[in-house]
Parts: sequence; C-alpha cells; structure tokens
Amino acid sequence: MANNQIRVRFAPSPTGGLHLGGVRTALYNYLFARQHGGKFILRIEDTDQSRFVEGAEDYINNCLKWCGIEPDESPEKGGEYGPYRQSERKPLYAEFARKLVESGHAYYAFDTPKELEEMRNSLKSDANPSPQYDQQIRGKMKNSLTLPAEEVDRLLKDQTPHVIRILIPPNETIQFTDLIHGEVSFDSNIVDDKVLLKADGMPTYHLAVVIDDHLMQITHAFRGEEWLSSTPVHILLWKYLFGVENMPAWGHLPLILGPNGKLSKRDGAKYGFPVFAMNWADHVSGELTEGFKERGFLPAAFINMLAFLGWNAGTAQEIFSKEELVKLFSIERVHKAAAKFDFEKAKWFNQEWIKRSNAADLMEPVKKIFDLHHIPTFTDEYLETVISLTKERCTLLTDFVLQAGYFFQTPRAIDELSIKPKWSDEKSLFFTHFASALEGLPDNNHDTLEHLFKEMATQQGIKPGELQMIFRIMLVGEKMGPGVFTIASTLGNTETAKRIHYGIEIMNALRK
Ligand code: GLU
Repeated sequence: MANNQIRVRFAPSPTGGLHLGGVRTALYNYLFARQHGGKFILRIEDTDQSRFVEGAEDYINNCLKWCGIEPDESPEKGGEYGPYRQSERKPLYAEFARKLVESGHAYYAFDTPKELEEMRNSLKSDANPSPQYDQQIRGKMKNSLTLPAEEVDRLLKDQTPHVIRILIPPNETIQFTDLIHGEVSFDSNIVDDKVLLKADGMPTYHLAVVIDDHLMQITHAFRGEEWLSSTPVHILLWKYLFGVENMPAWGHLPLILGPNGKLSKRDGAKYGFPVFAMNWADHVSGELTEGFKERGFLPAAFINMLAFLGWNAGTAQEIFSKEELVKLFSIERVHKAAAKFDFEKAKWFNQEWIKRSNAADLMEPVKKIFDLHHIPTFTDEYLETVISLTKERCTLLTDFVLQAGYFFQTPRAIDELSIKPKWSDEKSLFFTHFASALEGLPDNNHDTLEHLFKEMATQQGIKPGELQMIFRIMLVGEKMGPGVFTIASTLGNTETAKRIHYGIEIMNALRK
C-alpha cells in the first residue's frame, strides 16, 4: 500500500435512519484510523437505486457530525480518491466486470425475472427453501456458459437485458484470517453465483465494495458481522482482480442484540428506546423514529456507550472521552460474542457524562431543548448557574425541562395536597411577613436568606423544617430540586416573593 498509511472506510447505504450498529462500525473505524495516524473515509454505497432514499446521505453526514466522528474524505469533503459516491463511479465497475468475464471468472446471464422465479419455484423444497443460482443450476439456465457463443454475441448486440454473475469455482476452501474471528473458511460449493453487474449497468454491492476498497487503497475493513457470509465472494473477486495479498485486513464486528434477538428498529418502538443516532422520518409513511440525540443523549456519552458494545478496556474504568478511546482502543479486545444493548446502561453513561460535563458545555444542548419547550433562558450566566445546580439530577438532557424549568418559569400548578395538611393561619402569616421582609434584602444572598427564614420561624414559634417543605413547593411546584435557599437566592427576591404570594393565594383559596 502507498506509504503504508492506514486507510479505513465506513460504507453505509443511504436507505434510511442510521442504526446504532452502523454508528458503532463508523466509530471503530474512526478510532482505529486516528490511533494509527491514518485516514477515515466515508463512502456512500448507493448502487441499489431501488432502495435509494432522498435525504438519507445528508442525514448520515449530520449523524457523524453530531457524534464527532467526521471523515477525512467523503462525498461532502472530497479527497484524492473520489468520487466517494458509488453511483458516480458507475462506468468504472462495468469495465472490471467485463474483465472478469474475459478471464473466465464471470459470465453473462440473460434469464428474465420470470425465468428466475420459475427456477426458484420448481426447486423449492423443505430442504431447500430458497434455491440459489449456483453450480447445480447454472448449467440449466440461459447464460454464456450454456448458450452458443454466436447466440451470446447476438443477445449482447441486441442489448438484451442481462447481468454478469461471478462463476464460483467448485470444491475450493476459501480461507482468510479475520482480525476478530480468527481463521475463517468457507466451502465454495455452497456459495452462489452472485450478480456482480445488474441489468441497469450498476454494480452490486459485492463488485463495488471490492473495486472501491482497492482503488481507495483501503488497508482494513471493519464491518458488521452480517457481512461475514459475503466475504468468500469478496475474497474470490480480490483474487481474480487484484491479488489477495493486496486485500484489506477484514474485521467483522459482533452483532448487537436487543431484548429479543438482533436489535432492530422495531425493538425501539416496542420497548421505548431509540435505535437511530438521530430522529429519522420515513419518507413514505412519515413515521418518525426517535434518535439518541433527541432523546437527550450527549454525543460523548453515546459514543462512549457504543465503544463498549463489543469492546472493553480490560479495566474497571468505563467512562472514556473520545481522545482516551483513540489511545486505548484495540481491535484485539473486540470480542466475537454478540454484544447486548441495554438502554438502562446507555442512560447510565449519559448521566455520568452530564455529571462530569462543565455547565458551560451543556448550555448549547440545554438551550435547544428549552427552545423546543418554549422555556426562556434569560442570560447565559443565569443559565449556567442553573445548569450547575441541577445537572446532578439529570440522566437525559431532556430531564432539564423538569429539573431546571422552574428557574425560568413560575410553576403553573403546585403540589397543594402536600401542603394542605400543614397549612394554617400562622403559616400563611409567616409567609406573608417573610415575603415582605425579602424586599429589604440584597439579592443572591443564600446565607442571609436562610438566617432570616429561620429567625422569623423561631420568632413565630414554628418549626423551620415544616415551613421549608412548603417554601420548596411554592418555589418549585413539587418536592424536588437542590437546597431551597439556593433555589430562592438564585431566583432572586422579587421572583421568590411573587411565588410565595401566589402560593399563599392558592392555599388560602383551598380553605374557603
Ligand atoms: N454498504 C454496506 C452496508 O450498508 C457496507 C458493508 C461493508 O462495509 O462492506 O453496510
């Protein structure tokens, strides 16, 4: 490989939302590239026009940006090995497919969809539920192996719709060393003659992935385990076109399991957790699938959690920044066994990250969430203070709405029922006096406020503890939040007095 530089790729098909497994693939490739001073490439595999979805590529770009795992080369960024969108590389693939036909490793197949269906139906049995186009069958079909050469020429000249299929050799053991699974081998007799070039002249994934990995000088290909069964086809193509010694090292990442087998988009809806990185609206049905971002995850927590879905550091430490992951990540520690996705654990990662983040760093995402909920955020200084007072209580960024919203908006309703049994004329009087006394106090003075409150309570012969609970409900609406005098001194005297008067009004009205 040119100057031995590590080059890895994330090669998604733009067909819809980006599943967390896809982000994990991108992340592991990214970490590996950064660790080795290599390049991380985004290649858009859009050769299947029937599955193409408008907007899906932009969505992938946005997800990678949000996660902070941006590619060095991509359709958006460009680079020396472009274009990075396979649909724009179309002419290149046909040439290689024809080369394979010439060298006898592939052949033209003219079977119509109807003929293919008939073949499948006639061979279908319990033992063979989905018959393949393979060495048993190819001799009975309409292709350049069975038709006379003149007939093939004529069909090609007439532009008869056709595909190019790989000719899988019989009785071969196709072997390779997977960086995660170790030695893997396949019996060529059970591999089918996959289509390489489709009737529309577009390559299939199998052909395009090999050619592009070669032309883009990819050194390592980490991808999901679902692609392991396709590797024999890829290895043969490498052998026929470029030589296996030039092949990237493969690493197939473990499956991700949900509560019931392989984690699927449907699991998200069923169990109420996000599966996609960001919100995705289906272009046909409009159905919205929630993303981790919108659910209130910090990108740092999301990628920290993903790093652990298939890998661990070998120590008890679980919280790592992206920079630490770059240093520590190792393919040797990626395990073969499927990784179980646990939403509670994912939330734990987020909670830890919120706790450890500076309030200043949380301002931007919290502001966005508050905007969505029409909560005004006042000054940056005030918002920062409130975030630092409440972040320990938030698991998701969206929790700030409940945990911090009352610092910006007077609660519309208060927990009257908790106050009611404790409410009396004396307490009403106490709060009326206390609210007036506040007017003479300087703002933001926690200790003076607490001192005054307790002193006035003692003077009236009421236990301050009982009053504090009422005071809290008047300010917050509920029995929650940081210290009540911290809340009051943050709200300021005018707002505190206003909420007290409102509380007194509600409580006295209840007694009428
Ligand atoms: N386009 C394939 C996908 O959507 C990429 C598989 C690979 O990385 O080889 O996952």
